[in-house]
Amino acid sequence: MVSRVIPVDPFDLVIFGGTGDLARRKILPGLFRRFCAGQMPKDARIIGAARADMDAAGYRALIAEAIAEFGGGRTCEDGTLDGFLERLHYVPIDARGEKGWADLAGLMRDDVVRAYYFSVGPSLFGDLAQRLNAHGMTDEASRIVVEKPFGRDLASAKALNKDLATYFDESQIYRIDHYLGKETVQNLMAVRFGNMLFEPLWNSQYVDHIQITVAETVGVGGRGEYYDKSGAMRDMVQNHLMQLLCLIAMEPPSKFDPDAVRDEKLKVIRALDAVEPHHIVRGQYEAGDEGPGYREEAGDPRSRTESYIAMKVGISNWRWAGTPFYLRTGKRLKARSSEITVVFKELNHSIFGEQQDHRNVLSIRLQPNEGITLGVTIKEPGPGGMRLVDVPLDMTFADALGEDGADQTDAYERLIMDVIRGNQTLFMRGDEVEAAWAWTDPIIDGWDARGDVPKTYDSGSEGPVDAVQMLARDTRVWRKVAP
Ligand code: NAP
Repeated sequence: MVSRVIPVDPFDLVIFGGTGDLARRKILPGLFRRFCAGQMPKDARIIGAARADMDAAGYRALIAEAIAEFGGGRTCEDGTLDGFLERLHYVPIDARGEKGWADLAGLMRDDVVRAYYFSVGPSLFGDLAQRLNAHGMTDEASRIVVEKPFGRDLASAKALNKDLATYFDESQIYRIDHYLGKETVQNLMAVRFGNMLFEPLWNSQYVDHIQITVAETVGVGGRGEYYDKSGAMRDMVQNHLMQLLCLIAMEPPSKFDPDAVRDEKLKVIRALDAVEPHHIVRGQYEAGDEGPGYREEAGDPRSRTESYIAMKVGISNWRWAGTPFYLRTGKRLKARSSEITVVFKELNHSIFGEQQDHRNVLSIRLQPNEGITLGVTIKEPGPGGMRLVDVPLDMTFADALGEDGADQTDAYERLIMDVIRGNQTLFMRGDEVEAAWAWTDPIIDGWDARGDVPKTYDSGSEGPVDAVQMLARDTRVWRKVAP
């Protein structure tokens, strides 16, 4: 199967924070891969902007190093890197001052798509938006891309939305959640809405429960102090897990267009039940072979921030009332694995008698080994009567789609190309983000008010034992965290 690469329109993409970690690790290597794939038109330009004094040659050298380190080993033909680097420019600029703004304004072209990527801390979003406007660098077709975290609670998210809305229309604002750029996450929609098979069963009448797991093996490492101000709830649940939950639970949109999809996601968030304290387990990892314990890495021996969270969530709507969603995410767990599992109900009646306690389980693996598996019950081969066995119908994309299945385009490169195309479907709308915080805030406020202390768990384990017990009370078990 041959990938189709549809070139995008010529663009000037300014990356504020163009020397930072995210730009070097993800954004620029991703753009390089799009260049190698032939998706970048000849006159596209990428302009790095940060306070450090540097010229274009210095910036090109910095990015060449970043591509060597973070490019994932994907190489293009000889000479292609130079072709890419030629498109890079650099302007020293201060988001909070006047330095560099006239230079940047002088560099921008009128007849191309203008996109401004705010790869800086959110405290600079308002300053950047205001200065872009003051220097006449935006028009109706200009876009801005903003990174997470989009606020740390409802009040701060509202303030950010308000700041941006002063200068930009919602149709110009692209709030990135890179989970939405993952191939399998989009496949979730293709599987649900592109097949007759699943949709009729996709409700509380047939689905017993759904699990969403995002497990990491890494700890907070050098980011400990930063992470300690957020924790798993703010860093993962409010955004990434919430988006996965929305895609799995939403009603079919009338069409695959940005507002139709985002309207349906918003309805899911608004239908989420408040979570009871005994339906949440928070954890912190202990020291182990893998490294120091959470509190040590966070630099605070009394830290109450969670590096793990598991929760039972209900959705009060016609489709899902009575079907629990179990979410869990954590660091320093046994394996790196992101998976959504739909566990269907037992048969109403088995003609095979008591031996039949098999259930269909649909697993959607986001990483690693992207793919979808459906567990079905068949007859165990051989003589000796009718014995049943569960087997997986396995569609690992790498197997099913050959090279195209294995060679996944990184989420960032896909999303940046969507920005240039002007397609907001895979970006969060302001009201979605606010609704997610409105649901999250009371949970976090409750912990603070009660002085809730996270449970400990062993590094390299599957998380706190309390999370296992939470499901056991519902006579259910977590899927194994396995690669
Ligand atoms: P970083 O490594 O600290 O880089 C920050 C960048 O902003 C640098 O290029 C810095 O360069 C520039 N900068 C800082 N103050 C500035 C100012 N006043 N004017 C102009 N430029 C300024 O941060 P990062 O990790 O790249 O993260 C950037 C954003 O992405 C943050 O909001 C972060 O939360 C988010 N994010 C990061 C990751 C990740 O993996 N790194 C993942 C998801 C989201 P100068 O100091 O030279 O100005």
